Amino acid sequence: MAEPTQKHTRRTPIIGMEVHVELKTASKMFCGCANDPFHAPAPNTYTCPVCLGMPGGLPVANKKAVEWTIKLGLALGCKVALFSKFDRKHYFYPDLAKGYQISQYDQPLCENGVVHTELGDVRIHRVHLEEDTGKLQHTTIDGKRVSLIDFNRSGVPLVEIVTEPDIHSAEHAKAYAKQIHEIVRTLEISDADMEKGSMRLEANISLADDPNVLPNYKVEVKNINSFRFLEHAITFEIARQDALLNDKKIPAQETRGWNEEKRTTIVQRSKENAEDYRYFPDPDLPPMTFDAKYVEKLRAELPMLPEEKIKKLEDLGIKPEFAQLLSSSEFPLSTLETLFTAAKGKGFEPNQVASVIINRKLDIRQVKTEHVLEILANTYTKDEVDPKELESAVSAVLEEQPKAVADYKAGKTQVIGFLIGMVSKKLGKKVSPKLLSSILVRMFSSKY
Ligand SMILES: [Zn+2]
Repeated sequence: MAEPTQKHTRRTPIIGMEVHVELKTASKMFCGCANDPFHAPAPNTYTCPVCLGMPGGLPVANKKAVEWTIKLGLALGCKVALFSKFDRKHYFYPDLAKGYQISQYDQPLCENGVVHTELGDVRIHRVHLEEDTGKLQHTTIDGKRVSLIDFNRSGVPLVEIVTEPDIHSAEHAKAYAKQIHEIVRTLEISDADMEKGSMRLEANISLADDPNVLPNYKVEVKNINSFRFLEHAITFEIARQDALLNDKKIPAQETRGWNEEKRTTIVQRSKENAEDYRYFPDPDLPPMTFDAKYVEKLRAELPMLPEEKIKKLEDLGIKPEFAQLLSSSEFPLSTLETLFTAAKGKGFEPNQVASVIINRKLDIRQVKTEHVLEILANTYTKDEVDPKELESAVSAVLEEQPKAVADYKAGKTQVIGFLIGMVSKKLGKKVSPKLLSSILVRMFSSKY
């Protein structure tokens, strides 16, 4: 099939996301084996009768994994279930030794949350806990095509985060996925490394003629291992489905894989329905009950989340674009506050500190306050202009620019930038825009 080239559609993309995150607990989900598939010395070293699905192996749920899933749910604004259970999801695949995966069907640990992104809110349908599968490797040995299996990953705790179909563009999907990545990393419950597969993205995509009516089909796209590929895959899929719908064909309900090299999605299998999996409660695992006090204790242990950190930084006068970047840096808020205070004492503004950290890509492990102050001193020359000279230059510019003054009074505060430029020009030297801006604002409020 030729690659669709058309990027835009008059139809509304309806997108839901499923994100899988491997938890970095010390041991696996239902056994005592080490949970370290990426650093294992050899394939099939971290295995036991439980994670190999042998007769008699009895699973015991990993308490830490349950706790971390609840914390993630709380961070995503979910309601935590006080009663939850594990179910068996049956299907056959060579990487699934038991013939079923232990997952959660109708009573997940967390439900009904919301994630805020700059492109709009995305409601969280549910967050549940399950086990990862083994890993197949297709290769050639002695000229023969063979499939090898490694069970080091079998039984690694895996959280699935499912959204409502609230996403309507590739960019929005990317913003959402980035937000989840940030939150998971802040909670320190997973490496969320997409290249290695400890965070995996799937998108359910369909196109609606009427945005208020959900389409009667959806296409699931898997194998997406970067934010960029997510954008590519959704853009491609929107164009592919649009072309089919234009030809009066309904896209098939199926699972497709993203192939970044060929920039295309490829059909993998037709989509199963829940009943095909013959879910039933796992008789080996007792249901879980939690009391509200326990949930509140976990909530109190949550670290400061990126959204809150951004807000606090903005309250300290940091520009939104800097606040966004600093929130995802490894600098704790308290460290930043210490730096801001020290810099202020030397006549530097918090935004100058932020700019230095971001532009110099400073590393928390190397940064000392003195070091930052030194960079600031070398980066920003102090104002050497006589304050009297400065004020008269500002007055003169305001006299000469009645239109800019009128614009400012009409609420167009962005003319400040223009006025700063005019004052600098008049003085014939560069003056700190921050200082100029504060003088301008002060003179505006007293004179006009
Ligand atoms: Zn095991």
